[in-house]
Amino acid sequence: MGIEVQDVSKHYGSFHAVDQVSLSIKTDSLVALLGPSGSGKSTLLRMIAGLEQPDAGRIALLGRDATYTAVQKRNIGFVFQHYALFKHLTIRQNIAFALELRKASKALIRERVEELLSLIQLQGLGDRYPAQLSGGQRQRVALARALAVQPQVLLLDEPFGALDAKVRKELRAWLRHLHEEVSVTTVFVTHDQEEAMEVADEIVVMNKGKVEQVGTATEIYDHPASAFVMSFIGPVNVVPARSGILPRNGNKVLDSDRVFLRPHDIDIELTASPEVVPARVDRVVHLGWEVIVEVRLESGELVTANLSRDRFNQLQLRSEQPIYIKPKSLKTFPAYAVN
Ligand code: ADP
Ligand code: MG
Repeated sequence: MGIEVQDVSKHYGSFHAVDQVSLSIKTDSLVALLGPSGSGKSTLLRMIAGLEQPDAGRIALLGRDATYTAVQKRNIGFVFQHYALFKHLTIRQNIAFALELRKASKALIRERVEELLSLIQLQGLGDRYPAQLSGGQRQRVALARALAVQPQVLLLDEPFGALDAKVRKELRAWLRHLHEEVSVTTVFVTHDQEEAMEVADEIVVMNKGKVEQVGTATEIYDHPASAFVMSFIGPVNVVPARSGILPRNGNKVLDSDRVFLRPHDIDIELTASPEVVPARVDRVVHLGWEVIVEVRLESGELVTANLSRDRFNQLQLRSEQPIYIKPKSLKTFPAYAVN
């Protein structure tokens, strides 16, 4: 295993930031820690890095116990959201920094720095200063700097969080690509589910200091282990079962259960059948590539359906039109499990 976290807890006063978390991260894989702000992602990452000590539990890196190993001895590369490069050093000097500290030979440093500049696709910019680069380029340099000493483990805490959406998207693809070239066990913290799904081999969903689910993007999306996971990963409608959202085809549920239904899993039909539920078109929003239809159930609840343009054109829906919705897939959770 690349990283083994066993029953690790960390509290601040009476507050459990990380609560008995266990996790196995395969060597050379890229895993995302995904969760809302305050769910304990950074605290867990900082314990893996050795920047914080757990109150309980153990952490092993590449098969060796590292629970109390000093940061400097863990051979870890770290990139934070605001990982300031040294302003007064050139890009080349920034990347070389850790190697200089280790007293590597000049020839080795030169070779390694050129290799990294090419890896981050910034050849030719080595003599610039950080202020002369864009935000995205600076984060690539931060990554090169972290990789310079060939760490066994690379920890990234919201590394693209401060960049604008377009650059962030480019860097995701770039990071994925980079990870295929450099084999290093990588943990990537993000609160952005799309980012996690695009970048990671496996996603660890965290909530309130605990791990809710571990799986690939598809596993988590298709088989969410909890109401929290289902609402956190992708858009979802949540309505009480008593609102009549369930087709009358025999599913056993309590009136108080909550029904979770993704907008993409709802079709709209114009004729009654046992699989459909009567409703009325409330509002139609054209997004260009798809159409969002808000429908009102007879109970008064609003539910959002996403239709392809083709499907929408077939149906020719107008506001206030009586229709039927057909849930293609849904999940129910007991009310107490929904927060
Ligand atoms: P995330 O990275 O998922 O946003 P963090 O791990 O940073 O979450 O924090 C988890 C919780 O622990 C938060 O509620 C935060 O306020 C609390 N916390 C983190 N570090 C400290 C600290 N040094 N002292 C007190 N509370 C902290
Ligand atoms: Mg954080």
